[in-house]
Amino acid sequence: MIKKFIRKILGVKKEAARDTTVATVLGPAQHGIDPKLVTSNAIRVTSSLQEAGFEAFVVGGAVRDLLLGVKPKDFDIATNATPEQVKRLFRRAFIIGKRFQIVHVMFGQDLLEVTTFRGAGADSAPKDEHGRVLRDNTFGLQHEDALRRDFTINAMYYNPATQEVLDYHGGVEDIRAQTLRMIGKPEERYREDPVRMLRVVRFAAKLKFTIEPHTAEPIAVMAPLINNVPAPRVFDEMLKLLMSGHALACLQQLRKEGLHHGLLPLLDVVLEQPLGAKFVTLALDATDARIAAGKTVSPGFLFASLLWHQVLEKWTAYRAAGESTIPALHLAADDVLDSQTEKLALQRKIGSDMRDIWSMQPRFERRVGKAPHKLLEHLRFRAGYDFLLLRCASGEIESEIGEWWTAFYEGDEETREALLASASAAPGAVKKKRPPRRSTRSKSGGTVTGSTGEQ
Ligand code: ATP
Ligand code: MG
Repeated sequence: MIKKFIRKILGVKKEAARDTTVATVLGPAQHGIDPKLVTSNAIRVTSSLQEAGFEAFVVGGAVRDLLLGVKPKDFDIATNATPEQVKRLFRRAFIIGKRFQIVHVMFGQDLLEVTTFRGAGADSAPKDEHGRVLRDNTFGLQHEDALRRDFTINAMYYNPATQEVLDYHGGVEDIRAQTLRMIGKPEERYREDPVRMLRVVRFAAKLKFTIEPHTAEPIAVMAPLINNVPAPRVFDEMLKLLMSGHALACLQQLRKEGLHHGLLPLLDVVLEQPLGAKFVTLALDATDARIAAGKTVSPGFLFASLLWHQVLEKWTAYRAAGESTIPALHLAADDVLDSQTEKLALQRKIGSDMRDIWSMQPRFERRVGKAPHKLLEHLRFRAGYDFLLLRCASGEIESEIGEWWTAFYEGDEETREALLASASAAPGAVKKKRPPRRSTRSKSGGTVTGSTGEQ
């Protein structure tokens, strides 16, 4: 009923009858986009291209967000100019990409991606044995470009000069019905690029849209195809998902779509560990809150959190086997990083950030002498400390230790001295909730009990 009404006022044709080579054109009164949400740099790029005689539009996620009344986080531009032609028009423009050539146009820190309309032929493009498109860089017409995009709501074009939206696939209608619909045959489109399965989940969680049944149906069966996608691409998409501001909802949606098993070893670990669930939930909540507050999120912190309980499990096992605290933690970190790095293509920097955060944890237990002052000077103290607070909040360790560190971190020199005196007077206060172990041999040959106080 509502759909019928929308179709009637918008004059959008029914799915079966839609001619996808012709756009429905909507004026400002019909689409309601606030032109103030379009950045001056986006207008600079489209108008420079248009003045040079080319077509140019804001495209993709930015149009979707504009229609939803949300300020787009970045602007992608589509044009009929070739990458070389685009490059010539701007002072700081760089052609990048192997699989698809695009141009990065820079204005100060602001980066805009300019893409030439892509041509029809996913059919004729070279593919791997599973049907995944390997290269695909033919130029085409706008309606062909629209056909190649993933979801109807991501396939609209906005011309800031005329304030018109061009819609080839009923995207406006789907936005209003809050529906994610794949363009073309979903099964084929997932086969061409399995990353689209992660994308649909991310958009569903982020926008709180429903996945249209035909678009959702093949996912459960086709999920393993993700394994054939080069790891860096999967990693990029995972990072987008985790940094979307709706990480928790995304992971819940992944589970709902049956995508958490066999998709990535990371997700198997994160979503299946009962003990870690509380910790991961708190970490993702904190991440989502930081993004909502406009703060940055470090991928290292994020992955360190997601994998912490796996580290913890191995750490305990190594110690039970006789390794002392610190070496055991390093061995556990190595194991976890090794098992995740291959599939996840964790960049070296992220891996070393994770290791820093993890290996700082036992140092928080040493609250005597100069150790706490030294730890405060650690370059990544803040990340390690935030991580410690998460461990407290999840019930893994006593909240007293987090409270002590907060007071120490925020306190003046006098307060710090008092805190040090109180901590050394009450050594039992720092004990973890872990079951007590019998004494084990330490690396230095002495004996230690429990997990505290060892460096
Ligand atoms: P976000 O708000 O997260 O940036 P987005 O839709 O802009 O969402 P991008 O990854 O920036 O996502 O991609 C820009 C546009 O390129 C998309 O809107 C879509 O039209 C197209 N696109 C991106 N990835 C794919 C894909 N895997 N298959 C088909 N089209 C894609
Ligand atoms: Mg985008």
